[in-house]
Amino acid sequence: MRIVIWWLRRDLRLSDNPALHAAIQNADRVIPCFILDQSLLNGEKIAPKRRDFLLGGLAALDADLHRRGAYLVIRYGNPLIELQQLLNETGAQAIYAEADFSPFARSRDAKIAAVLPLKLVGGPTLRHPEEVRAVNGTPYTVFTPFKKAWLTRPLPTVGDLLPSPERISTPPNVQTLPLPSFKPLAEFPSGEAEAQRRLERFLSGPIVHYAEHRDRLDIDGTSGLSPYLRFGMLSARQAVVAALEAGQENGRKGAETWLSELIWREFYVSILYHFPHVLKYSFRREYEGIAWLNKVEDFAAWKAGQTGYPVVDAAMRQLSTIGWMHNRARMIVASFLVKDLLIDWRWGERWFMQHLVDGDPSANNGGWQWTAGVGTDAAPYFRIFNPVLQSKKFDPQGKFIRHWLPELQNVPDEYIHEPWKMPIAVQRHVGCHIGQDYPWPIVDHDMARQRVLQAFSQAQQGR
Ligand code: FAD
Repeated sequence: MRIVIWWLRRDLRLSDNPALHAAIQNADRVIPCFILDQSLLNGEKIAPKRRDFLLGGLAALDADLHRRGAYLVIRYGNPLIELQQLLNETGAQAIYAEADFSPFARSRDAKIAAVLPLKLVGGPTLRHPEEVRAVNGTPYTVFTPFKKAWLTRPLPTVGDLLPSPERISTPPNVQTLPLPSFKPLAEFPSGEAEAQRRLERFLSGPIVHYAEHRDRLDIDGTSGLSPYLRFGMLSARQAVVAALEAGQENGRKGAETWLSELIWREFYVSILYHFPHVLKYSFRREYEGIAWLNKVEDFAAWKAGQTGYPVVDAAMRQLSTIGWMHNRARMIVASFLVKDLLIDWRWGERWFMQHLVDGDPSANNGGWQWTAGVGTDAAPYFRIFNPVLQSKKFDPQGKFIRHWLPELQNVPDEYIHEPWKMPIAVQRHVGCHIGQDYPWPIVDHDMARQRVLQAFSQAQQGR
């Protein structure tokens, strides 16, 4: 009887799972196992909501496994030691796992593969970061050529998707430990079934208008799938197939734009794989010398959603309340922190990791470096978001702002983006006194713009 371990990491699903498929193909019995390493539960970059989402995903997966005659084995500790122990206990001959391309995962897996029979299959992206390189062999550092090369390689079809196995035979009585307690997230119910439901919902409507609606803060126009892709409750391949299929049916533009976003995800995974230094430093080293102001009171106001700029504050409160933020809002608040407050982008990157349910080192780092203008395919640093214009353009009636900032509920439309311009009589009439119920802006945007231009230009000239 051949027994193997299916070691889950960030592929918490049964459908279209090449590692699970390979495990089943190569064994009579499969032991699904998840190891709760301390670094997943505690640690400086852990978001409590992301941890709850992960634990909810494990509980959902265990229930799905029970329906197939199997169960999830939970262990705590160092994966190398725990896997060794499990191999000894059960007589399993191999370990199958989905590859993971982050520097942390690669180093962990290399150490394990050196002493244990670990076989890595597939990955959290459709394409392995080694697969998409320029003709001269170098990795791409600009998105458009990366996307072009990515699209010219063979594309998957529905026929490539692996079905969820009907039965999984797990040896009885393998010791498993209880999961820590967790709080299910109302906005992001965890698990594969919810990921499939969201994909269906998105494909049945919003994808058609995705290109026009994706930037609107006041419209629910995106898929809301990021946490599910982050933990592999949906395979990247299934998402890509869905985008390609939708492009053939209706809403061609919407589907193409959505596919582009999925390719951005793969681009940032590839950047982190080839340039792991970005986790600590700006990709463009010349910007390591920026004279940041790093005022702690400004950082505190940004974190609390008390900057006096409604669109920034609404987005920051969305983040702390539900652990998620709209992409346009992420760009606005990141730009505000770096450009308006002249605070090191790494402070914001860390705060996001400590709060995002979808917090992912590659996409988060990529997003921050892009917005700061210090990254690979970065917006030039002189392109600075004006928070008031962004607000007027992407939340015209202030619906998003009013949802997250109840204190501005009754502020008239004409002042909702810049409430500090409200005459005193209006403030009194609507019951919102600036400086009392809502703060004055903590910085003047025009002054800050000049200040940051100078700081970046000096860094570039090495002064
Ligand atoms: P949709 O618009 O439906 O897009 C589909 C999927 O494509 C997303 O679920 C996501 O997996 C991927 N995607 C979309 N846009 C991007 C992008 N710009 N970069 C990489 N992948 C993308 N995304 C994360 O998943 N984790 C993060 O930690 C993260 N941090 C970010 C930090 C900053 C400063 C910025 C500007 C962006 C960040 N993003 C991050 C990217 C993006 O904001 C989210 O993926 C998106 O808002 C998720 O919403 P959605 O699932 O509705 O996306």
